[in-house]
Amino acid sequence: MSTFQAPKGTYDLLPPDSATYLAVREAISGPLKNSGYGYIETPGFENVELFARGVGESTDIVTKEMYAFETKGGDRLALRPEGTASVLRAALEANLHKGGNLPVKLWYSGSYYRYERPQKGRYRHFSQVGAEAIGTEDPALDAELIILADQAYRSLGLRNFRILLNSLGDKECRPVYRAALQDFLRGLDLDDDTRRRVDINPLRVLDDKREYVQKQLAGAPMLRDYLCEACKAYHEQVRELLTAAQVAFEDDEKLVRGLDYYTRTTFEFVHDGLGSQSAVGGGGRYDGLSEMIGGPALPSVGWALGVDRTVLALEAEGIALDIPAATSVYAVPLGDEARRVLFGAVTALRRAGVATDFAYGGKGLKNAMKSANRSGARLALVAGERDLAEGVVQLKDLTSGEQTPVALDAVVDEVRRALA
Ligand code: AMP
Repeated sequence: MSTFQAPKGTYDLLPPDSATYLAVREAISGPLKNSGYGYIETPGFENVELFARGVGESTDIVTKEMYAFETKGGDRLALRPEGTASVLRAALEANLHKGGNLPVKLWYSGSYYRYERPQKGRYRHFSQVGAEAIGTEDPALDAELIILADQAYRSLGLRNFRILLNSLGDKECRPVYRAALQDFLRGLDLDDDTRRRVDINPLRVLDDKREYVQKQLAGAPMLRDYLCEACKAYHEQVRELLTAAQVAFEDDEKLVRGLDYYTRTTFEFVHDGLGSQSAVGGGGRYDGLSEMIGGPALPSVGWALGVDRTVLALEAEGIALDIPAATSVYAVPLGDEARRVLFGAVTALRRAGVATDFAYGGKGLKNAMKSANRSGARLALVAGERDLAEGVVQLKDLTSGEQTPVALDAVVDEVRRALA
């Protein structure tokens, strides 16, 4: 062990488990790539104001959880706590929304940082795959994103997740509801912090998990009763499209989520095997965000799925992904001449696309065969002086133990045949 450890709230991804993380990222991005979403990558940090304005000054993410710092040059930056604000900033900066080809559909994958109290499923550095569809108001787009996330989770074999769905209204109806909710909440017995929240972001109070708060919320005005006709019709269409696609969802009128920018459709994917950190992913429509960060009106919708929690969900359901062994062939040279010749064969195999590894460091036969077995390879190539004198190497099937001599110049073809 060295003097140093991974910082609190973080962990390292190491082989072989790291292969599962890669496979999860692949599984989530697969349906997006197949549906017109292009890959976008943005910096790991941004101007802190982008998040303050985009995510919301009153959110926990901005007030408590952001890694914000000042550079030597005096810039105020923050490690990104989420992806949407950055992606929209980048799309606006590059004028992707101009030229008439809307929506702009983008997907991303990367690291995010929140200064949270660490626990299982909640880390200070975590990984998300996300998707954003920018510039179009169409319930089919909201439905598309939910269907693609559902498809991704199902392709991983996950079954014990649920989709919670709600509408948060728009700039017409939400303020009316907000005022009514504030009136109600101001009549309750709440602590100072929560009372402040009633002033700044009353909808978040509905999300408060503490029992003494939840008990008092019975009888609170519900947004459903305040939705304008346009929002109601929009939401009904999203619901119908999901039903037609046979994607099951639950209406959850209390779902508000932790970011301020959501309007209309909001949703969360929760997994029942994860304890308190049960949200594996979430998203929604953010029709006002572009204007909040200085852009034109661009109604948009998106989601982000957490890779860490998706891996925990796989564990909770006892799902082991079928990940092919990294190495197919393992070469074991016996002596210096064999080393030179087999290293050449390894290079040729790799150039031919065969996953091959080599016993480095002058290991003896016994040790080298142990490494071969540990690598998961199906075949070993073994050669000593006598083999070389005959112009062959031994091709050994590591499952059956069967060994056959193969002419040196036929190694690539013979290996391919044996693996087929
Ligand atoms: P949010 O941006 O808060 O909606 O988060 C979207 C998804 O990212 C969540 O459903 C989680 O899967 C994941 N996530 C958010 N925060 C954390 C965290 N601190 N640790 C691990 N995963 C997280």
